Amino acid sequence: MTLTVLMNAGPWLSVPPPGYGGIENVVATLVPELRRLGVRVVLASVESSTLPVDERISVFPDGQFHALQRPYNQVCGVAQAHLHGVVRALRARDDIDLVHDHVEAVGLATMAALGPDAPPALHTLHWDLAKHPELYGNLDGGGRVHVNGVSAAQLARAPRALREHSVGHVHLSTPLAVGADRRPAVAKGEHVVILGRINPGKGQDLGARLARQVGFPLVLAGPVGPYHRPEELAAAGDEARQNPDVRFFHDHVAPHVDGDLVRWVGTVAGRERDDLVAGARASLFPLRWEEPGGTAVVESLALGTPVVATARGCLPELVEHGRTGLLTADEEELGDLVLAAGLLDEDECRREAAVRFTPELMAQRYVELYQRVRRLAARSLQPA
Ligand code: UDP
Repeated sequence: MTLTVLMNAGPWLSVPPPGYGGIENVVATLVPELRRLGVRVVLASVESSTLPVDERISVFPDGQFHALQRPYNQVCGVAQAHLHGVVRALRARDDIDLVHDHVEAVGLATMAALGPDAPPALHTLHWDLAKHPELYGNLDGGGRVHVNGVSAAQLARAPRALREHSVGHVHLSTPLAVGADRRPAVAKGEHVVILGRINPGKGQDLGARLARQVGFPLVLAGPVGPYHRPEELAAAGDEARQNPDVRFFHDHVAPHVDGDLVRWVGTVAGRERDDLVAGARASLFPLRWEEPGGTAVVESLALGTPVVATARGCLPELVEHGRTGLLTADEEELGDLVLAAGLLDEDECRREAAVRFTPELMAQRYVELYQRVRRLAARSLQPA
């Protein structure tokens, strides 16, 4: 029997994303594999998404990422409008076997609110589960709505009510992992890279300070709030400081960015991103939060670049200390570990990715979870 899945990627970015976009990258990686396994995919995203699917649903013409960090009273309608479109589509048809939802908080709440006639739903938790304690602490999915994490460490921190809805975790994957063990080594440069949105949790301020103290060249790549290019941020002026990540950048990161030893290059995409990471001596993750899934960690391994990181969140699950990276609980030690990372074998990193983080493996695991969620939902509908 063919399974039809409504994949709800949300309204924030197109799929695949133009550059930055953790969740959208995961969806773009998962969907082709699911379709190869015979799953029909109806994608709920924005009109500008180009990922090949069987059908599409959209409310917005393009990604609403620019609005994401606006004050709540300006932004709260965006995700709801998107979900409204999804619910309308679900009401109008009866061929959806399961909804796979990726929209933070409101996706979960909407699926739970739909009642027993709606299809079962699997909601993937892509974020830190210390967030939304009001929702996660009181969740009632009616036996129809279940969740999965993106690492075991992430789920271990979940409130009990949320854990009771969990069907386990699925590690993130990257298309770069396919054949990574057969890809020839790339000549390494001197630089270290931090790839990710610039944000206190990702710790670019710490990385930049250590780069100057210890003396290694550091490239920061990723957006600052909604700004992808240094020129865009400069042109935005003082008004941009309303955005917390812009304030963080100006106050804590920019003082270390000298354009020489420490550079911020904005968002990088495609080949440019892959070359930047593959040519780096190490990828640095000076985390100040419990990184839930670590797409960029997995990508770094697939590109043959060892990971140097604070041992928080999913890092100890993804990286083996002394083999594919170096981890520490002491953030001040990170600078020395960056210098030591050159001793690690980049082939080990690529091999690890090719074995553990392929799209095929992720899709197989999700199909298992879809079946499990459908069985659980069917059981909950049976009369006692
Ligand atoms: N990314 C990118 N260009 C950038 C910065 C990030 O393409 O300049 C991508 C990165 O490769 C990864 C995603 O954005 O696929 C970030 O995902 P991650 O899970 O690491 O971080 P988060 O979702 O927490 O922002």
